[in-house]
Amino acid sequence: MLDGTRVAGAIRAELAPRVTEFLAARGRRPALHIVLVGDDPASQIYVRNKERAGTDAGLLVTVHRLPASAPLEDVLATVRRLNADSACDGILVQAPLPKTIGKQGTEQVFDAIDPAKDVDGFHPHNVGLLVQGRAALKPCTPSGVIELLDREGQSLAGKYAVVIGRSEIVGKPMALLLLQRDATVTICHSKTPDLEATCARADILVAAIGRPGFVTPAFVKPGAVVIDVGINRVDSRDQAVALFGANHPRLVGFDTRGSMVVGDVHPAVVDVAGAMTPVPGGVGPLTIAMLLKNTLVAAEGRPRT
Ligand code: NAD
Repeated sequence: MLDGTRVAGAIRAELAPRVTEFLAARGRRPALHIVLVGDDPASQIYVRNKERAGTDAGLLVTVHRLPASAPLEDVLATVRRLNADSACDGILVQAPLPKTIGKQGTEQVFDAIDPAKDVDGFHPHNVGLLVQGRAALKPCTPSGVIELLDREGQSLAGKYAVVIGRSEIVGKPMALLLLQRDATVTICHSKTPDLEATCARADILVAAIGRPGFVTPAFVKPGAVVIDVGINRVDSRDQAVALFGANHPRLVGFDTRGSMVVGDVHPAVVDVAGAMTPVPGGVGPLTIAMLLKNTLVAAEGRPRT
């Protein structure tokens, strides 16, 4: 198992002296501002975790809450106010925005963020720099995966990597980062024919799909490195048993809470893979560690006020 929690802890430990140095030099803490619109339960949890991790790391974290009914103009006004605030280093708008904002509205909000404060690395300016291999602020989840592979001693150059999923936040930037590290990369998605056969050739297989246990052992070349980005809540005990078997220790947790979080990779893959990330405790903690790192990078890069 590739230990995301341990690697995330190592990254956070490296950030600590930089936070202290920033505070000494600027007389203030690096400041992360999170904009949360609406009351989506998963988003509330993600924001709470980011807030806690940021505060623990010595950052100043402020959450700006807007109601689900907030018009697009109000969300844009919040972002513009933070852009203009010289004591704000990083801006994160928690996705997804409410349906009323729509796809175009969501794009407008993310486009409005000052690229220098775009700690998610989603702004088209930063995406362009990422394509050219010179982004300072890279999307947190895929850059966390690269950190994990590096720090766990997995080489990338010359390897055949397959990424399942082509989202803007995980699949596409993941493929670009693997390519920059000299892997040969294929991106698969919901319309890919022969998905299983393509995946089964991969030395490194990254699953970013959003379907519990989708990647079964048949997708995996023996000895491959399997990275499970998926975070899926399973509420059905039958589904939990189908994934883990009736006597698995994780069923105890399910029975206590009435649900469990599982990845996109089937638990049986552990018997085939050479190395794999668990869920939870794999990619998730790295995503947060990279958010903290991006906030510090953004803060250090800003002019002194
Ligand atoms: P998304 O819905 O935007 O994209 C999913 C992708 O999977 C799409 O590109 C789609 O083409 C592909 N896909 C769907 N069904 C498929 C199929 N049957 N065969 C092949 N490909 C298929 O999702 P996303 O935002 O990229 O997130 C993916 C997963 O990663 C989700 O479970 C999400 O919760 C999780 N996630 C985790 C973290 C983390 O920190 N660990 C961060 C972001 C997202």
